[in-house]
Amino acid sequence: MIKAEHLTKNFGDFKALNDISFEIKPGEIVGLLGPNGAGKTTTLRILTGFFTPTLGQVKYDNLDIVEDSLKIRQKIGFLPENNPLYEDLKVKEYLSYAGEMHNLAKDKLKEAVNKVIETCGLKDRQNQEISTLSKGFRQRVGLAQALIHDPEILILDEPTEGLDPNQRIEIRDLIKKIGQQKTVILSSHVLSEVEATCNRVLIINQGKIVASGTPEELKSQSATQTKIYLKAEGPLDKMVDAIKKLDGVEKIFNAKAEGNIVSIEIETDSNKELRKPLVQLLLDNNWQLLEINKQEKSLEDIFVKLTKKL
Ligand code: ATP
Repeated sequence: MIKAEHLTKNFGDFKALNDISFEIKPGEIVGLLGPNGAGKTTTLRILTGFFTPTLGQVKYDNLDIVEDSLKIRQKIGFLPENNPLYEDLKVKEYLSYAGEMHNLAKDKLKEAVNKVIETCGLKDRQNQEISTLSKGFRQRVGLAQALIHDPEILILDEPTEGLDPNQRIEIRDLIKKIGQQKTVILSSHVLSEVEATCNRVLIINQGKIVASGTPEELKSQSATQTKIYLKAEGPLDKMVDAIKKLDGVEKIFNAKAEGNIVSIEIETDSNKELRKPLVQLLLDNNWQLLEINKQEKSLEDIFVKLTKKL
């Protein structure tokens, strides 16, 4: 169990992290999601022992990240932001070097290198120089170096950043596969990334955790509003005025007309089912209904709402 309590990190007068606490259980794949500058990298650097927190503590079971940093680092594999690699080494050479850095014994080293090459799908590239690899394969090498000492916990800073859509999917699948056996903590500012890979999300904004839960929990916690999209034939202004008067309508936006075809988006109180009264209203006024559908708020909407600049 990883337990972070009241973490604060100041850089001079600036508070990059402001009293954040969270727990991560063995086997979880947790995503730290937030916009640029939210404090994700700072959090991961504290978790890996690269930064000391200004206040607060991190415990890995009964070990403390400041006092037992070396012991904890043996349990962790880390893929830093921008994945720094030794360009002029071949994949296999680099991974052997990474294993030596972790003090793997000579007889174990070869086996460990072969294992991560297999896991990360690098067999065909093992003798290729790193400088000649595509971004997707470089990311695989980064993951392989993080796994070389068979750590219990994998910490990945923006692992899919800069990849094309196909490479993203490949790396995502690889992380999910690795996550079947290890605890994984990753950061991203791309919501779909976290939603597709992680079973729990911590949303971080301006150094604070503003929400946490499974993607489904976050959606249901925030589902206080529903959006209805309506398309009908009739006069725009009159229709908007009539809809505004319905009980449960909170906001009308994007109301527009093309000829006499009107489209409107309506934000409503989730506890009220407004589709029936809306259809009745159209019937009463002789306005022809063309389309009506209800949209639950997506995690994207929730993320934008929680992290928009105040
Ligand atoms: P990104 O996705 O852009 O990497 P992030 O969520 O990882 O963002 P951090 O790198 O943790 O954000 O940075 C949080 C804030 O702390 C930012 O405003 C950043 O400029 C600031 N910061 C980070 N490291 C330092 C440092 N060494 N000195 C001063 N300020 C820093």
